[in-house]
Amino acid sequence: MQKKAKILIIYTGGTIGMIKTSTGYQPAPGLLERHMAQMPEFKHPAMPAYDLHEYSELLDSADMSPNDWNTIANDISRHYQQYDAFLILHGTDTMAYSASALSFILSGLNKPIILTGSQVPLVEAHTDARENLINAMLIAGTYQIPEVCIFFNNILLRGNRARKTNAYGFDAFTSPNFPALGEVGINITLKKELFLPHKKNASIKMHPIHPQKIAKFSFFPGADLSILEALLAQPLQALIFETYGVGNAPVKQAGLLELLKIAEDKKILIVNTSQCLKGTIDMESYATGQALAAHGVLSCYDMTPEAIITKLYYLLSQSALDLNAKKNLFKTALCGEVTVL
Ligand code: ASP
Repeated sequence: MQKKAKILIIYTGGTIGMIKTSTGYQPAPGLLERHMAQMPEFKHPAMPAYDLHEYSELLDSADMSPNDWNTIANDISRHYQQYDAFLILHGTDTMAYSASALSFILSGLNKPIILTGSQVPLVEAHTDARENLINAMLIAGTYQIPEVCIFFNNILLRGNRARKTNAYGFDAFTSPNFPALGEVGINITLKKELFLPHKKNASIKMHPIHPQKIAKFSFFPGADLSILEALLAQPLQALIFETYGVGNAPVKQAGLLELLKIAEDKKILIVNTSQCLKGTIDMESYATGQALAAHGVLSCYDMTPEAIITKLYYLLSQSALDLNAKKNLFKTALCGEVTVL
């Protein structure tokens, strides 16, 4: 008989284990574990065995920072040999950031790391928590998925391709530029051909990330470039341009190209992403994009905003790499986060 899988569930906070208080939903220590212990579903023979590790400070994910990503990654890597899979229970607000960050921080992964949570707490009668938790546990305990995923509302997404696109519905997450890795209906159907390859003889490695000075500038008709100038006067390491369509900016606006020159001289890494939800950056298409590329602006292709931020954090934290190496790696798919043209 096959050995029953054992998974480590890490509860970081988020709605799934919250209760309603007079000041709104708040995490309640011990509540999730107590409630799960009362639910027969979790003792069903088909379910994997699990240990639950609850963080001493449960957070609304809006309060999470890069250091919390390092803590989660460290807990996974410390217990990596003891468990078959890892389930991270997390608030939905910044789940896509944490999933993206974990995909960069942890290399050599051959076991599933699945993040889930819910829009309504587990203790409520009308809740999505029960389905999300049970199905995420079943998938984690059954399949060898060698990457970081988000499971939510019956779909399994690559973590660094997922976005929270619905603040209200149970279908909170989508993956605008990459197909779902799997779906739960009557059967669990996984698209194994989309999984990242298994890494033979690889061992898990952790690459902690450190906070970096990163800013965003979003173009809109009539945007005042003195604000961009003020941003560039800061000790910035990277600036994310949110441009139109396939990566076009108002390059005829007086002063923009001069500001790009200043940024180049100051070795500020400028990367270009689209304000569109779907599609990819292609700065070659229009003169309004080519002018940016000519000033050293890098393409984010079809990366999510969450993957861009966390990839920049990851690369800028590598003190052994020079700026050119960081630029080259930014343009490279490191863990399935980008489709390079
Ligand atoms: N504000 C909550 C959080 O992100 C929302 C949720 O869990 O769904 O922690």
